[in-house]
Amino acid sequence: MFEAIEMAPPDPILGLTEAVKADPNPDKINLGAGIYKDESGRTPVLSAVKKAERRLLDAEASKGYLPISGLPEYTEAARELLFGPGHKVVESGRAVTAQAPGGTGALRLAAEFIGKFAGEPRVWVSDPTWSNHYGVLGAAGLKTAKYAYYDANTHSLDFEGMMASIAEMERGDVILLHGCCHNPTGVDPSRDQWQEIAAAVADRGLLPLVDLAYQGFGEGLEQDAAGMVAVCEHCPEAFVASSFSKNFGLYSERVGALTAVSPSPDIAQRVMSQLKIVIRRLYSNPPAHGAAIVATILGDPDLRAEWEEELAAMRGRIHQMRRLLVDTLEAKGVEIDFSFICDQNGMFSFSGLSGEQVRRLREEHSVYMVGSGRMNVAGISPSNVDRLVDAIAVVLREKG
Ligand code: PMP
Repeated sequence: MFEAIEMAPPDPILGLTEAVKADPNPDKINLGAGIYKDESGRTPVLSAVKKAERRLLDAEASKGYLPISGLPEYTEAARELLFGPGHKVVESGRAVTAQAPGGTGALRLAAEFIGKFAGEPRVWVSDPTWSNHYGVLGAAGLKTAKYAYYDANTHSLDFEGMMASIAEMERGDVILLHGCCHNPTGVDPSRDQWQEIAAAVADRGLLPLVDLAYQGFGEGLEQDAAGMVAVCEHCPEAFVASSFSKNFGLYSERVGALTAVSPSPDIAQRVMSQLKIVIRRLYSNPPAHGAAIVATILGDPDLRAEWEEELAAMRGRIHQMRRLLVDTLEAKGVEIDFSFICDQNGMFSFSGLSGEQVRRLREEHSVYMVGSGRMNVAGISPSNVDRLVDAIAVVLREKG
C-alpha cells in the first residue's frame, strides 16, 4: 500500500521553518511561523516557567494519567483567565472547560463535537484565515465557507462586508471568530464592533467558535479577551478554543483548552460528558506537564506577576518592531505608505506584498515569510531591520 503513496506538499507555515533551516545564508531572516523571538532571534523559556518547572520537579509525586478533561486546577485557571474573576458566565456554572493539546487540539475537539451533534452546518471562517483552520475543520468532516473580513485596499477590517456576510448565514451555522490578533492580517474589530458582531451572531442563531490563541499579545490580557467575552455574554451557546503556546511560550508542551458555554449548568454538564467521549477516542487524556506549569503560575501571585511582566515585554517588543519597520521603510525612501503596520495587533502583519514578491524575497534575499505576505513581526530586530528593508525595497522597485 505504501508504494502507491505520493509525497504530500510541505505545510505552508511550518514547512517554511524547514526551508529556513536548510538555507546556508548566515544573514537569513525568518518571518515565517508564529513563534515569538527576542532581540537576538531566540525563543527563550520564560523565567516564570522555569521557576514553576523547578517547583514541579521537586513536588511531582506521580505520573499517573490525568482525568480525561484534564488537570482541574488548570482548567479552572484557564477559564478564569478568559473571563476574569467572578464573571457571571462562569459563576453560573454555564461554562465547562476541557484541557486540550494546544489551541489546535481545542479546535479539533470543537470540530469533532460539532460534527457529531450539529447536523451538517456550514462553518464560516474569515477571508483570509489561518490556513490550518481549513485542515482541522475539514478533518472532522465539516464544510467551510468564507465571510468577508479584510479590505486589502484600506488594510483594515471590512466591517460592513462582515456584517452583511453574517446576515446571510443560516440558523445553526457555526462562525469561527479570531478573538484577537487576527491571523494572518493582524486586523481586529474594535470594542464597539465586537458588541455589534456578538449581537448579530446571537440574533441569527449562530454557534460562535472563538479561536483565542494570542491573549495578551495585542493590548493586554483583559482587553484581548473582551470580544470573546462579549460573544459569550450575548450568545446562549459558544465554544472558545484557547492556547497557552504563545502567551506562556509553551509551544512544544501543547497546552490549550476548549471552553463550552451552555444555556444552563445542567446542559453544561451534559456537554462535558460528551466532550469526554470525544477526547477518549481521539487521544484518551491530555499531557500533564504544560498544564501543571500554567496552573502553578496562575495559582501563585508572585509567579503570575512575573509572567504578566514577561508577557508585557513580549507585547512591547512587537509594538516597537512594528514602529521600527515602518520608520526604516520611510527612512530608506520606500514610497508606499506602510503606516498601517503600526495599527495591526499581535504577532502578524499582512504586508501587502504579492506572492511573487514573497518568492523573490525568499529566493534572492533569504527573507522568509508566508506566501500570503504574512510577516511574523517578532522575527524583526534592530540588527536585521536594515537588511530586511533593503530587500523589500528591491522587490518593490523591480515589479515584474
Ligand atoms: N489558532 C490560531 C489563529 C493560531 O495562529 C494558532 C497557532 N499558530 C493556533 C490556533 C494553535 O496554536 P497551538 O500551537 O496552541 O496549537
